[in-house]
Amino acid sequence: MLYGVKDLKVEDVEVPKVEAGEVLVKVKAATTCGTDLKIFQRGYVEKVIKLPTIFGHEWAGEVVDSDKSLEWPKKGMRVRAGNSAPCLHCAMCQRGKYNLCENMIWLWGAYAEYIKVPARMVLVNMQEIPEGVSFEEAAITEPLACVLHGVEEADVKLGDTVAIIGAGPIGLLHLLTVKKMGATKAIVIDLVNERLDFAQKLGADVTINSGKENVEARIKKLTGGCGADVAIEAIGLPATWEQALRLARKGGVVLEFGGCPPGTEVKVNAEMLHYGELTVMGTFHTTPLHFRKALNLIATRTIDVRPLVTRKMKLDNIKEAFEILSTSKNEIKIGVVP
Ligand SMILES: [Zn+2]
Ligand SMILES: [Zn+2]
Repeated sequence: MLYGVKDLKVEDVEVPKVEAGEVLVKVKAATTCGTDLKIFQRGYVEKVIKLPTIFGHEWAGEVVDSDKSLEWPKKGMRVRAGNSAPCLHCAMCQRGKYNLCENMIWLWGAYAEYIKVPARMVLVNMQEIPEGVSFEEAAITEPLACVLHGVEEADVKLGDTVAIIGAGPIGLLHLLTVKKMGATKAIVIDLVNERLDFAQKLGADVTINSGKENVEARIKKLTGGCGADVAIEAIGLPATWEQALRLARKGGVVLEFGGCPPGTEVKVNAEMLHYGELTVMGTFHTTPLHFRKALNLIATRTIDVRPLVTRKMKLDNIKEAFEILSTSKNEIKIGVVP
């Protein structure tokens, strides 16, 4: 149970009871995420999360109970679901923008022994986990789905040079994805050498420590003076949003992926936007289609997410897990097992 900033306690709670259309899942693994860490450290997503609450949103497990009227999923089936389910009939859903659904439901509670999946989520965003895929891998479906949605919108192409700011879990998922999409030069930028080394192991062609090098100058040099085809911000800070704007070439794309705190404003150079025909976009969250795609990509190891789980810990030690993530330079995601 999360009570507030850095106030996390392991407690016994009632096993949830299923009602109409709902499914109860025994969690087999959950994975930590930057969003969870933000909530733990700063608690600023308080509008989304009502405290005290069980939290965590990347999980996979086994069906233990479901409403009798449901034909699917069967008891014992390995599944993953959520963390969102659009309504399919609001103005945004009617336009196919399911990630912007005005009545989105969200599911928190991955760091627990059981999680109850709401009826709508069972219908639109629950999948069976294919054989041979671990629960940890399946749990990573959610962040990968967000990344897939982003790079599809940014239209990364075969042969592109892509600059990625941030070598955390989200930056690294972008790296794995753009390499698969045929980027010939993937450049990863971060302040922490350990993370850059990790990015290199995962296939980064170039890494740049932005604390030690002039990133813009280096990117210009690497691209014959013109800049990256696509620049992706995967941190969520105004300074790096603005930095991303300076890394893309004329006619290039800037994908502002990391969410900044509410009220944040950034400066955009109008000359670059107009004379440079720069496309600047933000993407938010993802759609049920991308969840399906992400799980398939993980299951076929087209995108191998296994290296991202750098440590496994027991649910009893969840507080310690977040303390490790707050300070460690070497951990990417921790697999939390009840
Ligand atoms: Zn996540
Ligand atoms: Zn909707």
